[in-house]
Amino acid sequence: MRKVSIFGATGSIGQNTIDLIARDPGAYDVVALTGGANIAQLAEDARRLNADIAITAYEDQLDDLRAALAGTDVEAAAGAGAVTEAASRPADWIMSAIVGAAGLPPGLEALKQGTTLALANKESLVTAGPLLMQTARDHGATVLPVDSEHSAVFQGLVGEDMSAVERIIITASGGAFRDWPLEALKDATLEEASSHPNWDMGQRITIDSASMFNKSLELIETKEFFGVHPDQIETVVHPESLIHALVGFNDGALMAHVGPPDMRHAIGYALHWPDRRDLPVARLDLVEIGQLNFRKACETRYPALKLARNVMETGGLAGAAFNAAKERALDGFIAGHIKFTEMASVVEHALDAISAQSGLINATISLDNVLRVDHLARQEADAAIAARNM
Ligand code: NDP
Ligand code: MG
Repeated sequence: MRKVSIFGATGSIGQNTIDLIARDPGAYDVVALTGGANIAQLAEDARRLNADIAITAYEDQLDDLRAALAGTDVEAAAGAGAVTEAASRPADWIMSAIVGAAGLPPGLEALKQGTTLALANKESLVTAGPLLMQTARDHGATVLPVDSEHSAVFQGLVGEDMSAVERIIITASGGAFRDWPLEALKDATLEEASSHPNWDMGQRITIDSASMFNKSLELIETKEFFGVHPDQIETVVHPESLIHALVGFNDGALMAHVGPPDMRHAIGYALHWPDRRDLPVARLDLVEIGQLNFRKACETRYPALKLARNVMETGGLAGAAFNAAKERALDGFIAGHIKFTEMASVVEHALDAISAQSGLINATISLDNVLRVDHLARQEADAAIAARNM
């Protein structure tokens, strides 16, 4: 039996992962499942899958988790430290699907045991890409991309030489407001931003899709994972979300990955890699689809894309500052403190403030320095949000 752990088990990616694993009873031995506030879901899955341990990220939820697991032999633990510790429990395959920078420490810990890390948590590549990839190399671990675009590129590169790659095109749905007049964006509500036209995902990534902060994280993720130059990375709006990415080669060929917008494809590919297995996703009927459309990704509509270019050019710890400021700006929008269109200026302010300190931004990319920059960028973003509320 393959030993597997799922970090962020109660979320959208975590639940899709569990859906695949539960279809194959007897094939998997579940080691650790982690969650946050959704104790009922965490306990239910830990019972059903007979996990060794269930961990909530929040210490004050430990009693509730223990109560929900009463009568089972599933261990219960709580706190960020316990989540990271669980990543050192031996497993053959570990899903990294915590949302946000909180996914980095357990991801690094998992790599240290030389395992295969299925990486949905794009924030860990954005904040500390070189550290994450070097840790994997140092310990003979494998990182497999789970973000649909990066899984698509990864699949397009099988058997290819990276030196023949001219460009990588990451497609974007354009999010909830792709057809809105520009001047209406400033009045976009939380509810409107939380509904994705094509994908069913967690709330945070859905709002990030509307603002294209998600796509900007993905551009940086592409640079870090595939080691290409920022100029080789393009994005294009593709409203149908059926082509997930394209790889352009030096002979002019473009290899496109086409599939239904269902994360179980990318998760399943990482679960069974290097094999392909039957997956419970819809088969596309091209005649029914009829046509595919593409539009320019406009930086006036999506200023986050321009910020991502700045981050890639600056390098160093700029990604850590960008992601942290983005997380706070998103919190600010969700809490109703800033408007949808103000998120980008909050992030730009924080990024400028941190980038101005060259000693800080160019420090070694270690976990300590990432956490330091993360903390400072959050403070800068909070200050910018507070200034807007005065
Ligand atoms: P969700 O918000 O649905 O789930 C997030 C998971 O992380 C939940 O299990 C949540 O627990 C847990 N969590 C939240 N905060 C913390 C914390 N501070 N410490 C530890 N655990 C925490 O997110 P998604 O599943 O949508 O996304 C997960 C990751 O995958 C993100 O990095 C996202 O960018 C990426 N991704 C997601 C895609 C999707 O289709 N959803 C597509 C591509 C990438 P609880 O809910 O119990 O509080
Ligand atoms: Mg994606």
